Amino acid sequence: MTFERYGTMNVNEKGHLEVGGVDTLKLAQKYGTPLYVYDVALIRDRARGFKKTFAEMEIDAQVAYASKAFSSIAIYQLMAEEDLSLDVVSGGELYTAIKANFPKERIHFHGNNKTAEELKMALDYDIGCIVLDNYDEITLLQKLLEERKQKMAVLIRVTPGIEAHTHDYILTGQDDSKFGFGLTNGQAEKAIQEVLAAEEQFDLIGLHCHIGSQIFETTGFVMAAHRIMEQLVLWRDSLGFESKVLNLGGGFGVRYTQDDQPLDPSEYVRQIVQEVKQMAINHRLEMPEIWIEPGRSLVGEAGTTLYKIGSRKEVPGIRDYVAVDGGMNDNIRPALYEAQYEAVLAKNPLGKTEETVAIAGKCCESGDMLIWDLRLPKAFSEEILAVFCTGAYGYSMASNYNRIPRPAVVFVEDGQDKLVIKRESYADLVRNDLSFIEV
Ligand SMILES: *Cc1c(COP(=O)(O)O)cnc(C)c1O
Repeated sequence: MTFERYGTMNVNEKGHLEVGGVDTLKLAQKYGTPLYVYDVALIRDRARGFKKTFAEMEIDAQVAYASKAFSSIAIYQLMAEEDLSLDVVSGGELYTAIKANFPKERIHFHGNNKTAEELKMALDYDIGCIVLDNYDEITLLQKLLEERKQKMAVLIRVTPGIEAHTHDYILTGQDDSKFGFGLTNGQAEKAIQEVLAAEEQFDLIGLHCHIGSQIFETTGFVMAAHRIMEQLVLWRDSLGFESKVLNLGGGFGVRYTQDDQPLDPSEYVRQIVQEVKQMAINHRLEMPEIWIEPGRSLVGEAGTTLYKIGSRKEVPGIRDYVAVDGGMNDNIRPALYEAQYEAVLAKNPLGKTEETVAIAGKCCESGDMLIWDLRLPKAFSEEILAVFCTGAYGYSMASNYNRIPRPAVVFVEDGQDKLVIKRESYADLVRNDLSFIEV
């Protein structure tokens, strides 16, 4: 029987939830819970979809996986296999990319406070480009490049003053942001001048902007592209600057719940490209290469978390709390952003729902709730709950709060399962702890 949810998700002949041709109950048994399960075919499908859209429109492009959504050696290898580029935002993500042998020329380094050590690491590895975020960074990177007699391709991150319709905490395209240079208040222009003046050190290849996340409409992207292109016309005439690359960021929405109605990911690409193309034609600008940086739209829907149900607390007339063996330490998004999720019982996802319960985590925080109102068949202790769309910002934001080991991660594809991140052990939790008292 088919199960209209995500990717290869299915209900097998036993009536169990299956992903990538593998029974989720078997996965829970084999690897334990909580367990993150990734549908590799769905990730490949998304990656190919973005690339195909650019190819069909005959646009030179790079699709960079915004790896903060889920960073690990295995996912970097998968993205490399699919010919994507990679965004990293820290020394740790860069280190992981190096360990994964990711093609260095396709690594882009972002961040509003890259340290000298992190920048040196990027220069040692000679990555594809660094996205400059502020004047201090221009000064610091220029000094490092001068000392090392090295030249680096850079983009300048601008804030185009667009407010995307999304949660305030993840809104970054507006003027009042910790990221980037204001496009229209003179900051971006000054940054471009500084970078162009240091031509021995910098190869300024283009501009970058990222207007926010979990965006369901193309308007914001089109407006941002329009504003930047307008500005590029002015800068061509005043500074002789032409942007070879226009990076319009990520943030394409995904379907966490059935109320979310994201566009087909290729639709964002189509609209962005059309706007840039039109502006380029109207103003006789060279058509820039278009880069995008999807994170959650590549991996979000591909991830499912399996939990084991434990205790239940009934508050008469109010609600029933059903606790699982994970929570805010493996998925902080409900606590951080009031993010909504849906879930089913893995043993019968199509079962008739009989009750509304609240899914609680096991941490010592009242806010440690995964789902407030979930319709389920009667849910008993020891049963496996599958929470959908946990592939982005789940593992990557996971913590050891309450000294809970971080879960394992498994990739599934074509009936095969492969462990790609081991479950942490209690020994892992204390591996950096040192004794205070001589023993
Ligand atoms: C977070 C981020 C992305 C990806 O956002 P998603 O919502 O995961 O697609 C892309 N670019 C930049 C600069 C980001 O900070």
